[in-house]
Amino acid sequence: MTSKPVNNNRLTYDPDILSAYNEDALGIRGGFEAVFRAQAEDEIMDLIKKCAADRKAVTPQGLRSSLTGASICDKGIALSLEKMNRIIDIDVKNRRAIVEPGVITSDLKEAVLGEGLFYPPDPTSAGESTIGGNVATNASGSSALKYGSTIDWVQGLKVIDGNADLIDVKNILSEKSSAGYGLMNKPVNIFVGSEGTIGIITQIEVSLTLKPPPFFLGTAFFQDLKSVLDFNLTVRKDRYCSPKSIEFFDNACLNILRPEAEGLFIPADALFMVNFEQEYDDERHLQKHLDGWYKIIKTYSGFFDNTQISSSKAQIKHLKYLRHYIPEKMNEESIKAWKKGGCKIASDWTVPYNKLHELFDYFDKIKYILGDMTVVRFGHIGQGHPHFNFMARNGEEKKAAEKINTLMAIKAVELGGAISGEHGIGKTKRNLISFQYPDAVIKIMKVIKKEFDPKGILAPGNIFCVNSLF
Ligand SMILES: Cc1cc2nc3c(=O)[nH]c(=O)nc-3n(C[C@H](O)[C@H](O)[C@H](O)COP(=O)(O)OP(=O)(O)OC[C@H]3O[C@@H](n4cnc5c(N)ncnc54)[C@H](O)[C@@H]3O)c2cc1C
Repeated sequence: MTSKPVNNNRLTYDPDILSAYNEDALGIRGGFEAVFRAQAEDEIMDLIKKCAADRKAVTPQGLRSSLTGASICDKGIALSLEKMNRIIDIDVKNRRAIVEPGVITSDLKEAVLGEGLFYPPDPTSAGESTIGGNVATNASGSSALKYGSTIDWVQGLKVIDGNADLIDVKNILSEKSSAGYGLMNKPVNIFVGSEGTIGIITQIEVSLTLKPPPFFLGTAFFQDLKSVLDFNLTVRKDRYCSPKSIEFFDNACLNILRPEAEGLFIPADALFMVNFEQEYDDERHLQKHLDGWYKIIKTYSGFFDNTQISSSKAQIKHLKYLRHYIPEKMNEESIKAWKKGGCKIASDWTVPYNKLHELFDYFDKIKYILGDMTVVRFGHIGQGHPHFNFMARNGEEKKAAEKINTLMAIKAVELGGAISGEHGIGKTKRNLISFQYPDAVIKIMKVIKKEFDPKGILAPGNIFCVNSLF
């Protein structure tokens, strides 16, 4: 392969600049020798040609907010897409947008709202992650309960693979298709969740929907976990509650929130909190929904009188801030703990929502493994997707946290769940993939990787151990 020289203006070896690109949101450090801050597709093609010829690793990066070490590598070049951040087109008539990968998710959401449209995926990190990163991890957020994950909104991609070929792939517009191996009318899906391992995403077409109706955000408090889980189960089956999210927070979260929670009254003896969002069409529907929620809260909450319903922009913004504050605080702790060999080990497994009782019971049986380590549990129980965060203070605790996280993931799969609901595999969950997929399926994924990246230069170490591939 003959290669054009790479654009040296985009390449930086400066250790001060490089340092930022060598660390992710969890504090995982990489060993990149340089960062290439691309501004155009042809620059990426030149870089990939050169790196393929030299067998040099290239790891694409959005804003490094992923929580699995996926944006970091111990060698090669970090390929930052943050400067390819143009919203190319918002097609109001066909409810589509075409964007570059470095667009910050919340910027896209805001831009389309300005046109009366809505891009639903809402990772808590929407303000600090890119659409490219969201596609590469299949990110989702609390409202995935109603609106699905990133994969449900991506319709077309441009991707530069490890051969430096530009692939232009689009989902088929007709509703039915019966051709091929399961991808059917959605060939784009092959690249969603690929974590940089089979190509650099350079352009993304997403579908949009109409601006949603107003919603209220309810907050209810509980005295024990069983009541929370029973509440969740009942809501999911109720005809008057159709939440777009149900998020739970345990006592460790409440302890983090109490000093910040101005404007939110947390009863002193409450041990759990649940936030739920409910959209409504008009005042009549609003009352029906409220009656439905109140009835169920009364049944399961010992703190019915402390239930809060927030509907003003300011109230909701504050509650969203508090929701974001929890992982942010823990990530700060994680970065500090790295110095002593510890870090936050965060779970991302999911189960069918009606299996949550079994999963939590199992945790109670094995939690002795953790000793007195702090565990902070919160997240998307509406979809059977709570995040358990084990705050390991040193190397020994980290091993214990990894052990329990693995046992929980195996149990989740046994219960019909998945090893990762939204963060992806990266480097920290590679050992789990064989619990979810049969050997034959893993083999096929490796064949796909080799087809798109025959030299093994793209995001090495993500999803699969390098040794198991080449
Ligand atoms: C406080 C906090 C809250 C979070 N909350 C959520 C949440 O609610 N839901 C959720 O899903 N995640 C959440 N995350 C995780 C993270 O934000 C997501 O994984 C996000 O999608 C990563 O986007 P990024 O732009 O930061 O990508 P990066 O972290 O830079 O990269 C992530 C992966 O994508 C690949 N990649 C990035 N750009 C491209 C590209 N253009 N082409 C090919 N591959 C690419 C990278 O190689 C890497 O494998 C949270 C993180 C933090 C710090």
